[in-house]
Amino acid sequence: MSARRPPTRVPPVAFVPSGPGLGENLPSRAILDETMKMTLAQFSINAKANAYCPYSSFPVGAAVLARNGGIFMGCNVENASYGATCCAERTAIFKAASEGVRHVVAVAINSDATDFTAPCGLCRQVLREFTGRKSTLDDPDDESEEAQDMLVILVRSEGVRRGKDDSGLEMREFWLKKDLLPYSFGPEDLGN
Ligand SMILES: [Zn+2]
Repeated sequence: MSARRPPTRVPPVAFVPSGPGLGENLPSRAILDETMKMTLAQFSINAKANAYCPYSSFPVGAAVLARNGGIFMGCNVENASYGATCCAERTAIFKAASEGVRHVVAVAINSDATDFTAPCGLCRQVLREFTGRKSTLDDPDDESEEAQDMLVILVRSEGVRRGKDDSGLEMREFWLKKDLLPYSFGPEDLGN
């Protein structure tokens, strides 16, 4: 499998969208609309273009949406010492965390595989660290699923796989804690 470069529409850098309210901490449901989901999916496809995967030839891109509206992109970065490899999801969330983000609302993941690519177990645990927590929410009464969990959007596109365009883009959604990592261990279990 060769790493094809998908069409790039946006620069591969973190950004905070402009617009009323964005840049501030917002209720998850206020920024996680269908337009944002599609934007995040496109960012994950674009992030894949920078994948460094000479050993697996399995490029992966990820994009995380912070609660303040910022989007951070990541790709898999492999290493000749295989165990030092970092997945796309962790690259993206480490970039976000290193910029001060502590609450990620959603993550989109894309690869060139025919089927959807889900995050590995290690990445699920790392993502789980930055899910919403009741104690950290501006609105302590917001006990919605969106506020307490993280949306995982798996993205695939027939057009991108063929190196053409992003036509036929499909998304499949899961909740991280509810669907992918039930009964998980997190900061709350340490009293944080
Ligand atoms: Zn992983």
